[in-house]
Amino acid sequence: MSSIRKVILVGDTKVGKTAITVRSVHNSFVEGAPTIGVDFFRKTLLLKTGRSLQARIYDTSGQERFKSLSRSFFQGSDCCIAVASFDVDSSVHKLESWIELVKEHCDEEETVFLLVMNKIDLPGALDDSGMYPVSKADIEAAASKLGFSKVYYTSAKTGEGINELFSDMGEKLVGAA
Ligand code: GDP
Ligand code: MG
Repeated sequence: MSSIRKVILVGDTKVGKTAITVRSVHNSFVEGAPTIGVDFFRKTLLLKTGRSLQARIYDTSGQERFKSLSRSFFQGSDCCIAVASFDVDSSVHKLESWIELVKEHCDEEETVFLLVMNKIDLPGALDDSGMYPVSKADIEAAASKLGFSKVYYTSAKTGEGINELFSDMGEKLVGAA
C-alpha cells in the first residue's frame, strides 16, 4: 500500500462535507458554500506512536447532487467518511446508498468507513427537540442498521469533534484501532 492514503467524503449536498474538509485542513469555517478549485487537500495525520501519515482528502464539488461522481473519485480509496446532518432531510437515509456506491468501486475489506453526523452546533440538535428533519435517534438507528459501532458527532462551524474524527482515522488507517 502506498504511504499516502486516499480519503473521500460522501453524503448528500449541504451536509457540510466541504466545511468538514476545510475545518480539518485549514482550521477555519466560512459561512456559505466555498468554491475550492483543487482536486484534493493534503493533510498530515498525527499518530499516537509519534509517527505521521499523509492523507489526500477528496471532497466532491457539487456533482454529488446528481450522484454523478466519476469512477476515479472512488477508486483506490483507503477511507470513506459518510456524512449526514441534522438539517438536511433524508441525508441519514441516503447514507446507505452512498456507502453501497463506494463499496461498488472499492475493496470493502480494505476501506475504512466512518460515519459522521455534522452540525451539532445547531441549537437543539442533540437533544431530540424535534426542530430538525433528522434526529440523533435517526442516525443511531441508521448506524446500527449499517453496522457502525460509532457515530462521530461534529461541527465544522465550531470545530467540535473534528480532531477526534481525523485522529481516529489515522489510527484506523494504520490498523491500530
Ligand atoms: P456540502 O455540500 O456537503 O459540501 O456542504 P457545505 O460544506 O457546502 O455546507 C453546506 C452549508 O452548511 C453551508 O452553508 C455551511 O456554511 C453550512 N455548514 C457546514 N457545516 C456546518 C456546521 O457544522 N454547522 C453549521 N451551523 N453550519 C454548517
Ligand atoms: Mg461541498
